[in-house]
Amino acid sequence: YIRKDKKRIFVLIGAVLIDKQKPSPRAMAFYLDITEQKELDRKKNEFISIASHELKTPLTSVKAFTQILMKQFEHNKDKKSLYFLTNINRQLDKLNELVSDLLDVSKIEEGQLHFENKLFYLDDLIKKVVVDFQYTTKSHMIIKRGETHAHISGDEHRIGQVVINLISNAIKYSPGSDKVIISFKDTPEKTTVSVQDFGEGISAGDKTKIFDRFFRSEKHEGSRISGFGLGLYITKEIIDKHQGSISVESVEGKGSTFS
Ligand code: ADP
Repeated sequence: YIRKDKKRIFVLIGAVLIDKQKPSPRAMAFYLDITEQKELDRKKNEFISIASHELKTPLTSVKAFTQILMKQFEHNKDKKSLYFLTNINRQLDKLNELVSDLLDVSKIEEGQLHFENKLFYLDDLIKKVVVDFQYTTKSHMIIKRGETHAHISGDEHRIGQVVINLISNAIKYSPGSDKVIISFKDTPEKTTVSVQDFGEGISAGDKTKIFDRFFRSEKHEGSRISGFGLGLYITKEIIDKHQGSISVESVEGKGSTFS
């Protein structure tokens, strides 16, 4: 909106019908100046973008030197140093994932998250992700039920990221359980991949918010289960951009299925 003093402002406009009565129904409309909120949002996005870019470079180099040192300690059979360095390496991977998520978010906000478009076989991709996951996961069995015969046109790496996010959440939010099930359904129109866990589940109120940027369920804020609340936001963006859809079914205390 352009004000009388020629200043451009952002406005949020809404209306509600309060009385349907004919012949003169009544409604209420509102008009809110959200310029300040928009500016704060822009600054936040700018900060996320700069911070994630600046963190990525030193992190990549620390990771590279860590791997060189690990090889040396392995060669010298220095088991104690190798043990410490393996732990450092694992924490670096976690840090890398967080920074990558922040980078992805800033790319989404700037409309710069680009996707490759190649044909790939979905089953091969999921098989590989499951094998990689099982290699590092001792607490849960990742069970693949059936297979899909779908050839997908899109970004294989990004779709892999979606499957990784869903399995990783399924494990993270079901500490008392020991399995995660991945199942498939092919119809001529679409392929559905579901990731089911037997964990704590998601409340009806949270279900509508979990795909929002930075959303974490209240019970996880400050809890021992770490996270930024970005995984599902990025996941949804990737699926939307592939003309797909993502949904969740959940029963509190019984578990969740993301499809
Ligand atoms: P993060 O895991 O980093 O918090 P996500 O965007 O992946 O971020 O998830 C957002 C929130 O949704 C989580 O904080 C958690 O409260 C909830 N959530 C996601 N996946 C599950 C799941 N499988 N079971 C229960 N809650 C979940």
